[in-house]
Amino acid sequence: MSQPLPARQLVLSLLLAASVIGQEAPVDLWSYSSPASWGRTFPFCSAPLHLQSPIALTVDRVVLTPPLKVIADPGAHDWVVEVGNDGRRLELNVTMDPRARGASPTYPIQLVIDNAPLRGTYNLTMLHFHWGDQFGSPGSEHAAGDKFFDAEAHFVFFDASFPNLEAAQEVPGKVAVVAVLLNREGNFSGPTFPTFGLQNNMDQLATRDSHFSFRADLRQLQALLRVVLSRMFTYFGSLTTPPCTPGVVWMVSSVETDISGSFLDCLTTQVYQDRFRLQRLVNNRRPLQQRSNRVVFKQISLGSDGLLA
Ligand SMILES: [Zn+2]
Repeated sequence: MSQPLPARQLVLSLLLAASVIGQEAPVDLWSYSSPASWGRTFPFCSAPLHLQSPIALTVDRVVLTPPLKVIADPGAHDWVVEVGNDGRRLELNVTMDPRARGASPTYPIQLVIDNAPLRGTYNLTMLHFHWGDQFGSPGSEHAAGDKFFDAEAHFVFFDASFPNLEAAQEVPGKVAVVAVLLNREGNFSGPTFPTFGLQNNMDQLATRDSHFSFRADLRQLQALLRVVLSRMFTYFGSLTTPPCTPGVVWMVSSVETDISGSFLDCLTTQVYQDRFRLQRLVNNRRPLQQRSNRVVFKQISLGSDGLLA
């Protein structure tokens, strides 16, 4: 339970929060060492009415749906991706710079959704990872029941009728995050998450604000999304990092997925929060939040292969 803030401090906090709702909060203002204190600077993070993520997922209702459409841009087979370490996570930005192709930004993958609570076309703009540590602490933010996983990937989509993610974040329900729960390869036999060989270049991502661009065949992500979106938990929550913006639609796959063990090892031992390799970036996961009275749906796609489980 947080202490009430003095009025002046509260006003300043609200003003700061309002100024950062549409963007990611500067990483100097928060860290994973004290998630309980995020709300002092970012009021959404501790406001019980602004339902927060992650949560432990148990199913309230099961819904059978037609499969989501996952569409790839014709150029997705050879796409320029920028990968970077911002000191809090490893992020792949897949938005094609407008200067590279025509007058407006382009996105490699779109989801076409025709099921409540989401309807419309959503652009994939980035994906990033949350992970544990080299001693085997779990890395997922969400739990399926009481089970955590080795890592969790988040694909961030926004409604394509908005010009960008920042504009879509201002309207509840216009940002959707697909979460994929990841197991170390060899422990399981699910689909495999593509890592694009980044484990071979992790030294270039070791320090905060390091980044580089590479070309990737993002049809691998399209194929993975088709599989993982066939079975998922859906619920309303928030961004799991400050400013903890609410109104986010979560689609957490219940298809457990493998990821390269060497990639996980690189994340837990070679990535740092700072520019001087002093403090490893590990356990970059927000603790579970109160579920309150939220309803969690399990959506199962009736796919062309007759999948129904
Ligand atoms: Zn995330």
